[in-house]
Amino acid sequence: MVEWFRRSTDKIKTISKKDTAEGIWVKCPRCTQVIYSEELKKNQYVCSGCSHHFRITSQQYFNMLLDDPKNILEIGKNIESVDPLKFNAVSKYSDQLKAAKEKTGYNDAIRTVVGEIGGYKTAIGIMDFSFIGGSMGSVVGEKISRLVSYAISNKTPLIIVSASGGARMQEGSYSLMQMAKTSAMVAKFSKEKGLFISILTDPTTGGTTASFAMLGDIILAEPNALIGFAGARVIKQTIGQDLPEGFQRAEFLLDKGFVDSIVHRSDLKNTLIKIFKFFKYHPDHLVT
Ligand SMILES: [Zn+2]
Repeated sequence: MVEWFRRSTDKIKTISKKDTAEGIWVKCPRCTQVIYSEELKKNQYVCSGCSHHFRITSQQYFNMLLDDPKNILEIGKNIESVDPLKFNAVSKYSDQLKAAKEKTGYNDAIRTVVGEIGGYKTAIGIMDFSFIGGSMGSVVGEKISRLVSYAISNKTPLIIVSASGGARMQEGSYSLMQMAKTSAMVAKFSKEKGLFISILTDPTTGGTTASFAMLGDIILAEPNALIGFAGARVIKQTIGQDLPEGFQRAEFLLDKGFVDSIVHRSDLKNTLIKIFKFFKYHPDHLVT
């Protein structure tokens, strides 16, 4: 019977699945509309049919937000994880790291740079979900700490775009320590009266939500982004109750006061510039 489904001629070529995903056409996972990839790119990777915000890389965010993505100072570019536990469960952590580096071209799940947004010099860190689920290990923690130190010393605003599955369990307690480390640095920045804008994208969960991501002076989120600590199923099992509709989505969190504003990707850069202007941000901002 299988023979019925086999082509009797090889003149007709079928586009492989890989070609469809990475090539010319992309299917929106939300409304199933098929979109021409160039159109999607022009539309900042937002579906024109239903406004679904596709997950994008740190480089795509840098291109979108910075005045000149090439005119940057990258902080901690060469910091790499040393695999402190020699973790070896389902697969070797060192192999996972190597594969993630090859796939993304980055050294870890965040890139931290200094660049200009609307002419405002800004310290900005952007996470990559495609690097081991955007998990926060010792490298992410160290890079964020150095970025915040830069923002304190140079009196610039601080922006972190989060996309993370939480702490990187392959680094055990080292990864959990990053929650305290990054939170302490953000607290220090706040004491110095710095402005920290946290941008939550899909998904922002686990240890990232439980530390710096929810500590922004202003917290923005992309539409429909999943934001939470534990997964919905775990919570449901623990409390033994059904969860409300839209639970852990950006709109739900806005309604409950955890998020200040939901910003469409096309408005994100202008919103940041408006906030800088509103706070009359200038190099002497921190001088009291
Ligand atoms: Zn769509």
